[in-house]
Amino acid sequence: MEARPQRIATGVPVRKEVRELEIPARVEHWLDTLADLTWMHLAGRDASRLRIVTTLLHGNEPSSIRGLHRWLRGRETPAVDLWILIGAVQAAIEPPRFAHRFLPADGDLNRGWGKSPVEAGSKLLASERAARIAELLRAFRASNAEALIDLHNNTGHNPPYGVGPDAGPTALGLVSLFGQRFVHSPLALGTLVEATVSHFPSVTIECGRAGDPRADDVAYDGLVRFLERDELSSLANAGREIERLGDPIRVTLREGARLEFAGTHRAGASLTLDPELDRHNFQLIAEGTQLGWVEGTRLALEARDAQGRDRSGDLFRVADGRLSAARPWVPVMMTTDPVIARADCLFYVVEPLPTWEP
Ligand SMILES: [Zn+2]
Repeated sequence: MEARPQRIATGVPVRKEVRELEIPARVEHWLDTLADLTWMHLAGRDASRLRIVTTLLHGNEPSSIRGLHRWLRGRETPAVDLWILIGAVQAAIEPPRFAHRFLPADGDLNRGWGKSPVEAGSKLLASERAARIAELLRAFRASNAEALIDLHNNTGHNPPYGVGPDAGPTALGLVSLFGQRFVHSPLALGTLVEATVSHFPSVTIECGRAGDPRADDVAYDGLVRFLERDELSSLANAGREIERLGDPIRVTLREGARLEFAGTHRAGASLTLDPELDRHNFQLIAEGTQLGWVEGTRLALEARDAQGRDRSGDLFRVADGRLSAARPWVPVMMTTDPVIARADCLFYVVEPLPTWEP
């Protein structure tokens, strides 16, 4: 059977549709009524055009669903037709709520898009969800949508920013609806945005730290702008103002290294990092800035660029048990959560890019 989103109604104000949907006042109660990978269609003022919003691909990143819930309960008809994807619902409602990026049986919902199960090496595509994911992706790619935005949070202190492989004027304009910074990333992680970016402007928005009410406001305010604005074409001018960073180097913990976050050296830890480090996200760290303490002479960090080269010698200096910056650089997405640091990465180092030229 051909894929069809859950069609909610046509030609009537969203407010009425919302009543039909019976969206409870509390987002937690609403989530309890939803299935994983819920796909909804709202009718817009102009039914000849379509935009896509994807939310909650990670169950521990609630700003997207909070922003969407608030918009659905209070707003009028969107400017154009709208598809909404609400992803990892089960992971989000698994106690304690909004604590699980994904459930172990399901795999990460923002990895493996557009790849075969073998390529992805992911449980996500080896399960029943695989067919659903493939169906969604086929429909998205064939949708002729004007744009897609995929909303996330991260765990460290970061301002809101966009990230993705498309640094074109419309993509940057979309970012400007949420923040003032964009990280141009060619890293192939298998995200939904990577899988759709050659079909229409598609960006990931990191709204800020999960659990921070300001990040929820970023998601909501940006959604209002994205959904109620008649034309996206005029956004290209706003995109010129965006601060662009690129050439990301992914900094991870070496296999077997023991990491702690503390203000002084911790005995037994191969690496002790300053717990305030994430305050430097998106700021230039000066050469010689101390980042933490190491035990032994072996650096517990790896730093790989998009070509897979280890750049740690270029970024870090170890002397007298102290770890410092070997040159000025800009960290982004730095986490101070040891679990995430071990499972994913510690942070990315990026370079400022020249201002956009048409
Ligand atoms: Zn995420």
